[in-house]
Amino acid sequence: MTNSSDESAAVGQIRVGIGTDRHRLESGRPLILAGVEIPSPHGPVAHSDGDVILHALSDALLGAAGSEDIGTIFEDTDPRWKDLPSRRIVEEVLRTIGELGWKPHNIDLVVHLEKPKLAEHRESIRQQLSEMLSIEPGAIGMKAKTGEGVGPVGESLVIEALAVVQLKSTEE
Ligand code: MG
Repeated sequence: MTNSSDESAAVGQIRVGIGTDRHRLESGRPLILAGVEIPSPHGPVAHSDGDVILHALSDALLGAAGSEDIGTIFEDTDPRWKDLPSRRIVEEVLRTIGELGWKPHNIDLVVHLEKPKLAEHRESIRQQLSEMLSIEPGAIGMKAKTGEGVGPVGESLVIEALAVVQLKSTEE
């Protein structure tokens, strides 16, 4: 049952992966989502730029390919990754899954944030992700949800993201 081919994609295969991320919010910090800077009274506290979409997405991509998570690959104590633009993490993740014979097919995202409202930034976020992942904007779902004023999201203590991805083999 187990052999080395389990590690890599076979022709026509698909895989599904899931990833989440959460960062504490602090006033005066920049809010960056999928590389888009969003005017905001607060932003994530993080070793990197705290881009929850790209972090959740990276873990979903790696998980679908059966790889280690971004916390293992990009240790938050490693000075090389301090203030790292998360786009570079995604590039590294795409390289890693590409070596295993996988590429993104479609993704779906949920961001949990009380404020600001993200609706007006939805299209620029999808456009950025489309370019980053080389998939059509139509293959990218992006929802924003508030915390209805309660809990860590509702009290603007945190921002969270959930990502689901589908990979397909690079050989079709
Ligand atoms: Mg993170």
